[in-house]
Amino acid sequence: MKHKIQTIMISALIASSCSNMNTPQANQQPAFEYSNERFADLQMLRYRVDGFENLTLKQKTFIYYLQEAALYGRDILFDQNGKYNLRIRKMLEDTYLNYQGDREDKEFKAFETYLKRVWFSNGIHHHYASEKFVPEFSREWLMENANCTDEIAEIIFNPELMKKRVNLAEGDDLVLTSANNYYENVTQAEAEEFYKKQKEAGDSKHPVMYGMNSRLSKTEDGNIIEKKWTTEGLYGSALRKIVENLKLARPYAEDEQQKKVIDLIVSYYETGDLSTFDQYSIAWVENTEPLIDLVNGFIECYGDPLGLKCSWESIVNFKDLEATKRTETLSKNAQWFEDNSPVAPEFKKKEVKGISAKVIKAAILAGDLYPSTAIGINLPNSNWVRAEHGSKSVTIGNLTDAYNQAAKGNGMLQEFAYGPEEIELIEKYGDSTDDLHTDLHECLGHGSGRLLDGVDGDSLKAYGSTIEEARADLFALYYLADPKLVEMELLPNNEAYKASYIGQMQNGLLTQLVRINLGSNIEEAHMRNRALIARWAYEHGKKDNVMELVKRNGKTYVKINDYQKLRGLFGELLAEIQRIKSTGDFAGAQAIVENYGVKIDPELHQEILERYKKLDIAPYKGFINPVYTAIRDKQGNITDVTISYEEGYAEQMLRYSRDYSVLPLINE
Ligand code: ZN
Repeated sequence: MKHKIQTIMISALIASSCSNMNTPQANQQPAFEYSNERFADLQMLRYRVDGFENLTLKQKTFIYYLQEAALYGRDILFDQNGKYNLRIRKMLEDTYLNYQGDREDKEFKAFETYLKRVWFSNGIHHHYASEKFVPEFSREWLMENANCTDEIAEIIFNPELMKKRVNLAEGDDLVLTSANNYYENVTQAEAEEFYKKQKEAGDSKHPVMYGMNSRLSKTEDGNIIEKKWTTEGLYGSALRKIVENLKLARPYAEDEQQKKVIDLIVSYYETGDLSTFDQYSIAWVENTEPLIDLVNGFIECYGDPLGLKCSWESIVNFKDLEATKRTETLSKNAQWFEDNSPVAPEFKKKEVKGISAKVIKAAILAGDLYPSTAIGINLPNSNWVRAEHGSKSVTIGNLTDAYNQAAKGNGMLQEFAYGPEEIELIEKYGDSTDDLHTDLHECLGHGSGRLLDGVDGDSLKAYGSTIEEARADLFALYYLADPKLVEMELLPNNEAYKASYIGQMQNGLLTQLVRINLGSNIEEAHMRNRALIARWAYEHGKKDNVMELVKRNGKTYVKINDYQKLRGLFGELLAEIQRIKSTGDFAGAQAIVENYGVKIDPELHQEILERYKKLDIAPYKGFINPVYTAIRDKQGNITDVTISYEEGYAEQMLRYSRDYSVLPLINE
C-alpha cells in the first residue's frame, strides 16, 4: 500500500496528514532548486539525498548497483500500462531528437508536451485519472514529421480506442474495457473464473497472490494461459539485467539476512514461483537492522481493475537517522506526556509506550514510483504475511521535504496569511513545527489514552476515525506549545509553536477547502478532524476574542489574538474528545463531528476556490532522480560513487531510454 499525495500539496498551511510524515531539515543549502519545469498539469521537482556522501564506500556501492537494478525495470511498466506504449515512446523520442524544423513552432511545442506527459505517465494514459491523453498537435503534423504507422496514429488520435488504462465503471466488462496490458483476449468472467479455480485448489490459510506476476492470455485454440514475467519468460531481457545488478549488489549487502532477501528476489524472478515471493516478503519484513533497504518487484495492483496483476516498481532508500532520533526522544518521554496531558485521569494510560516512527530517504525511484511517487509505503501486501509476520511502514522524509520546499514560492502563504507577522512565523518555523506535529501525532497521540473497561473500540462507528485523528492532532497541538519541547531541544524557542497554530487554524477554517468541489461536504477523516478542531476553537474562543475572521477587500483571513488561550482551548477539546473515545459516546461523537467537521459555508468556499485558482498551482507533481556515477580504478573496482542533481527532465528520460531500454518494442 502506498500513501500518495494525489492532488495538491499545500505546504506549511496544510499540516501533513497522518501518513505524510517527517521532513528532515538538516544541511539544506539554499542553492538547491526543488522546483524544475512545469508542463500540462504537472510540476517536476527534485529531491535531495542528504547523507549519501557520508555513507561508507561499501554502502555507496550497494546503493549504486541497486539503483542500476531499479532503472532497468522502467520499460516493464511502460509495457504493462499498454501494449503500444514502448512503440509510441520510441517513435516520439526519435522524432523529438531528429526534428529539423522550428522547435518553437506551435505544433512542435504541443508534441513536446505530449511526449513529456507520456514519459511522466509511463504510457499514453494519465497517471492518476487513467484517461488517454488528447494530443494538441495534428495527426497530419505527426505523419509528416515522424516515422509513424497508421496503426499507431489510430491509437494516439482515435478517442474511442484504448480510452482508459483502468476502467472501474460498474456494469462494464472491466477487463475488456481497460487498456492495460495485463489481459489478452480474455473477458472479465474468464479471468475471474481462472483465478477462482486457482484459489480453490490452493492453500486457503496461506494463499499466494494469484496472478500477480503474469499476463493472462487466450491462445488461438481457446486455452487460457498465464505468460509469466520471469527471466526466461515475458520481460525476460529486462529482468535478466535486474538480476545481474542485484547479484552485483549482493556482496555489499549489510547483513546475512539482507543477502537472503536478495537471493529470494532473484530466485523469484528466475522461477516466477509465488510462494518464493511470499518467502521473500517474510525475509524482507524481518530484515529491519540495515541502514539501506530496497523494494524491487511486482508490487502494487492498482493498475488492474481486478486488483490481481502487480505493476513493477523499485525504491532504494536508507534510514534518516536524524529524524529517527527525534522520534526516539519523544518515544522515550512518552510517559511524561501521558501524565501531563489535560485529559481526565481515568482516561489515561498507566503505562504508555511511544512508537518511534521510521523515516527514510529515497535514493532512487523507479517503475510505478517514478516520476509520480508515494511519500509513505506500507508493505508487503499479502494479508496473511502481514497478519503473521507484520509489515514495514515507513515515510519518505526527503520527498515530503521536497514537496514542502517547492511549495514555498507558490503564493499560497502570501495569499492566505493574515499579515507579515504570520508570514514570518511560518517561514521561520513552519517546517520544523510541521515535522514535530507529525511526530507527536504519530509517536504519542494515537498511542495515548485508554478505553474504559467494557467499551467497544468500534462504538463510534463512522465517526471513529475522525475522532481518532482529532485526538492525535489535539495531543500534538497542545504539546507543541509546551516549554518542555524547547527544553528537549526539539523546538528552538517558545515562539516557534505559533507557526503551527496559524497553520492549523488557516487550514481548518480556510485553505483545506481548496481540495473540495463547490457544493460538496467534507468527507475525508483527516479533513473533518481539522475542520472540527479549528471551528470548535473559533466558536469557543469568541467570548475571549481568542481569534477573529477578518474580511479585507472581500477576502477572509484568520487572525489569532491570544496563542496561550488557544492552547487552553485545544487542551479543553482534547479532554472532551478523549472522553468521547474512552466512554464510546456515539451521540457525542456524532454531534461534535456533524456540528463542526462536515458542512461548508458555500460563500466562503467559493471565495477560497477563486483565490486558489488565481495562484495557478500544478495539481500533480513528480520527481527527477539524482544521477549516481561510479568512479572506478584501472582494474575496474569502484573507488567512489558520486551523486549529482543537475540532470534535466527530458535529459533524464532520454538517457534512461538510451541506457536502460532492453525490452523489445513488442512483448508477446
Ligand atoms: Zn493519524
